[in-house]
Amino acid sequence: KESLDKGLAKTKESVFKKLTRAVAGRSKVDDVVLDELEEVLISSDVGVDTTLKIIERIEERVAKDKFLSTSELNKILKEEIVELLSENQVDGEGDFELPKSEFPYVIMVVGVNGVGKTTTIGKLAHKFKSAGKKVVLGAADTFRAAAIEQLQVWADRVDVPLIRQNMGSDPASVAFDTLASAKKQGADVVIIDTAGRLHNKVNLMNELTKVKKVMQKVVPDTPNEIILVLDGSTGQNAFEQAKEFTKATEVNALVITKLDGTAKGGVVIGVSDQFHIPVKYIGIGEGIDDLQVFNRTEFVDSLFN
Ligand code: GDP
Repeated sequence: KESLDKGLAKTKESVFKKLTRAVAGRSKVDDVVLDELEEVLISSDVGVDTTLKIIERIEERVAKDKFLSTSELNKILKEEIVELLSENQVDGEGDFELPKSEFPYVIMVVGVNGVGKTTTIGKLAHKFKSAGKKVVLGAADTFRAAAIEQLQVWADRVDVPLIRQNMGSDPASVAFDTLASAKKQGADVVIIDTAGRLHNKVNLMNELTKVKKVMQKVVPDTPNEIILVLDGSTGQNAFEQAKEFTKATEVNALVITKLDGTAKGGVVIGVSDQFHIPVKYIGIGEGIDDLQVFNRTEFVDSLFN
């Protein structure tokens, strides 16, 4: 919680400060306050649809309690946002325990370049390893040589094997090799980096489908998880990417990175709500330990305290 507060210092200062400033001098939650609140939420990247949903919920509370004071607004807002987030997730989802299985648990990671995909894979590998799991990584983003090299740096740092081929090789072939190797080694968890090229949605979709199909030749019903990594400091872009990737493949978990570097952070609330996907982890720094299992209550507390 302490490191979360520190990591979110920028986010927290801004949303809370903005809200405090916006309601200063007004004692009751009225239409003017609600308008201000709407602006604060939108400017914090919560997204228009989700903001309106939250405002509606606050309006319902005001309708029940006409004398609702602005001093209670913060508390009510927190309650409503936690409630909203809980529609898509439970606290602590994403701990580093794994279901018992004879096969490795397979996580496929998608996202556009620069969002922190490689860093997140490195941090995840470290967390699983620290939890006593045997981890194997796969470099199936074969489009950029730098992507493979960067992942190698992380694999060495965490001290886990990375299965790789040359740049330009078939991602599905790398994924196949990775799973075959993981199975042979009796690995607990496999994390596969995949290409994040969005310039051609059909290509992306075909590629991810092919990777999945080939992986299923080694491990049935795989992957267990498709994680989409989004940069929390990119606002509307993160929403756009979520839209494209959820169309291309069945994303079932989100990682929102760089929440330490943004004065916003509402992306976490908006994207989860609009795409009905749980936020599993958040990135709050560049270091190996700067990844946290997302906890909606703690997050909202940090945002509005
Ligand atoms: P990729 O292209 O998506 O694989 O992105 P990288 O993992 O290479 O990350 C791009 C940059 O973002 C690097 O400089 C990382 O150190 C940085 N980065 C990744 N995650 C975080 C985070 O949670 N916080 C901060 N401040 N930087 C991050």
